[in-house]
Amino acid sequence: MDKIKPQPGIDQIELYQGGAAHVDGVRNVIKLSSNENPNGPSEAAIDAFRKISHELHLYPSSDHSSLRQAIGEQFKLKADNIICGAGSDEIINMICQAYAGPGDEVIHTVHGFAMYRISALAAGASPVEVKERNRITDVDAILAACTDRTRLVFIANPNNPTGTMIDEGQITRLAEGLPKHVLLVLDGAYAEYIEGFDGGAGLVENRTNVIMTRTFSKLYGLGGLRVGWGYGPRAVIDTLNRVRGPFNLSSPALAAAAAAVNDQDYADKCRRNNNRLRDWLSIALAEHGVPSDPSLTNFILARFASQSQAEACDDYLKSQGLLVRRVAGYNLADCLRISVGDESACRRVAHAVGQFKAGLK
Ligand SMILES: *Cc1c(COP(=O)(O)O)cnc(C)c1O
Repeated sequence: MDKIKPQPGIDQIELYQGGAAHVDGVRNVIKLSSNENPNGPSEAAIDAFRKISHELHLYPSSDHSSLRQAIGEQFKLKADNIICGAGSDEIINMICQAYAGPGDEVIHTVHGFAMYRISALAAGASPVEVKERNRITDVDAILAACTDRTRLVFIANPNNPTGTMIDEGQITRLAEGLPKHVLLVLDGAYAEYIEGFDGGAGLVENRTNVIMTRTFSKLYGLGGLRVGWGYGPRAVIDTLNRVRGPFNLSSPALAAAAAAVNDQDYADKCRRNNNRLRDWLSIALAEHGVPSDPSLTNFILARFASQSQAEACDDYLKSQGLLVRRVAGYNLADCLRISVGDESACRRVAHAVGQFKAGLK
């Protein structure tokens, strides 16, 4: 009957669930459901955003050269090998669109970030889910899952929502062990939370089969502006630029992101605050009988005795105005992902989880 149909695979995409931001009837809600920087962006980024409001009638740059230069200088990378997107989500999308289609397989891990599956399906490709080992990426399982049809392997390192990562030796082993027709995508959305970690940039420089993605949405506190970037071999970057919309980033986004990356003092301060509060929160939760794996990110994956206990705790936190993230969609039904907020938010969460656990006794 109905002749108007979407492309195969599109119907299998479950709509992305964003982190909740409101609770009916509860005021002073604290949002800890989307891994946002509780301190917001650098003042320099806000200034740059304001200044460019006078130029909104002008089209933005289409080659993003000032932002790519700023990123390149900050991270000591070649600006010609950088591509910018509307969030790293867009980079992930472009990679799938350019490198995977009907009949091709795209590997992601069982607790891997949701966009890998969504973008693979949107491109008409088949997502392939690979197991992890105790919530940590399993390189051997990924290598074993590769077939003639595999085109892409997506790994977030550290991963969301587990917060765990694998070391450089493991990543190198993965890059070296992949069949020659497979591109490895290292998603470094949380790389900035680890001091001195290059997110895999070194590997990109020494190989032709690795691309790294990064974002301004997490440590840089610019999630609302949508700015991400990729760093890869020139051939891959050139390919992605063919599918990229010429004006995919707005001028305020470009200006604010460049100012943010130039304000490393602020980024360092945010990292230090986050890491201190994160480690405090993880210990406080453990003392209440809620363990978590050591997190290298700006969130904690809190483990409960069962799915029903995790859901009951989520309901209780909500009643207290604390919004965290259920992660059943990531095959982690007995866990809650809690973003690291400011100090008072962390104290409130730890206190509320303690109250919840005490109420169970
Ligand atoms: C948040 C996140 C992203 C996407 O961020 P953008 O806002 O689209 O830049 C990508 N990967 C992982 C693992 C994330 O957690």
